[in-house]
Amino acid sequence: MHSFHYSNGSLHCEGVSIADVAEKHGTPLYVYSSETFRDRYMRLDDAFSAIDHEVAYAVKANSNLSVLRLLAGLGSGFDIVSGGELFRVLKAGGDPGKCTFAGVGKTREEIEYALREGIYSINVESEEESAFISQVAGELNLVAPIAFRVNPNVDAKTHKYISTGKSENKFGIDFEFIADAYERASKLPNLNLKGLQMHIGSQLTSISPFVEAVEKVAPLAADLKAKYGIEFFSIGGGIGIVYEKALASGSESWWNDQPEEIRPLTPEQYATAIIPTLEPLGLKILLEPGRFIAGNAGILVSKCLYEKKGTTKTFKIVDSGMHQLIRPALYEGFHEIVPVTESAGAVESVDVVGPICESGDFFCQNRQVNSFMPGELIALMSAGAYGMVMASTYNSHPLPAEILVDGEQAKVVRKRQTLQDLVEAEEV
Ligand SMILES: *Cc1c(COP(=O)(O)O)cnc(C)c1O
Repeated sequence: MHSFHYSNGSLHCEGVSIADVAEKHGTPLYVYSSETFRDRYMRLDDAFSAIDHEVAYAVKANSNLSVLRLLAGLGSGFDIVSGGELFRVLKAGGDPGKCTFAGVGKTREEIEYALREGIYSINVESEEESAFISQVAGELNLVAPIAFRVNPNVDAKTHKYISTGKSENKFGIDFEFIADAYERASKLPNLNLKGLQMHIGSQLTSISPFVEAVEKVAPLAADLKAKYGIEFFSIGGGIGIVYEKALASGSESWWNDQPEEIRPLTPEQYATAIIPTLEPLGLKILLEPGRFIAGNAGILVSKCLYEKKGTTKTFKIVDSGMHQLIRPALYEGFHEIVPVTESAGAVESVDVVGPICESGDFFCQNRQVNSFMPGELIALMSAGAYGMVMASTYNSHPLPAEILVDGEQAKVVRKRQTLQDLVEAEEV
């Protein structure tokens, strides 16, 4: 289920020792597993093999060129949210004809770029946007393939495993207005109504919100097919991953041991629950997973610099922080922390914090972790999605390097930034 495990007491990614790559390339360091990316992509793709479908990886989760290249090689399409992401996909050899372009705030330049490159569909989030796209397409003498994003008003937040920090309110067009939006757009000269799209949220680990949304929106998709001949229905991304027991969840046996009620969603379960509703539509079904493909495929390796004992707390100060993995600070995201050299089992309650001058700069607070000391390496698990893509150079720390492992090979797929890189675009 992922390819990070202890071997002879030392953490490995596939056949590569994490201590060895950290020794060679320094820390902090992102390390990704090719095998895990491939496995996740293929499991999801296989789960939907009974129907016409396409996986469009959500680039924003992890946009490293080598990651995109790997997925393009498997036949993946791409869900992009900016011109910059389209540029990356093209650089990586991805097929623009398999790209969908989402997001509420596309600029003229981005729309022109997407149309010129011949992307599969622009997923439109307001009627103002559809009118503007028609105008821009007209100026280019093109017809823009579009889909509207419907906001199905399904409460994904009532389920306990779902992150509640993110409001989706600005996204999509209300279910009540969507039929009219298509009707008006069908009269615009330079639009081709190609599909319907939705995306109800992220890190969903239970099936019911997905089922509810698909069942609510499927009749609309059937109507739109009858009226305007749409060809696809994108059901979005959002499949959750394991964060709390991330390391253990690498093994198939861990999954088999989980009681039914608490077992995280599997691609097979997801497919089985919704295919019966989707199949009769006779539409191409698009899937837009980001986190599911990338999340468990990466770790952030960091070194402990100091231990500071206060009156009430023990702080482990490490060489990475919120500037390189912001999920804990941004939405209380949980990352399992494990020592790279397996420890004898001593556990202590600590705050693992970074060097940044912000009180929000922590990876965990008052958490029982396997003890580690200054000089030792730790891994933040499940850091492959929404990790490096959100990294910044705040406090003028150079961005970390990224390594992509494949079997016994560890390749640098992004060089560590230098101090000179930090100031390259600036002038005195
Ligand atoms: C972010 C996003 C996704 C991917 O979400 P995950 O939770 O990472 O699977 C898919 N579709 C759209 C439109 C998105 O904005």
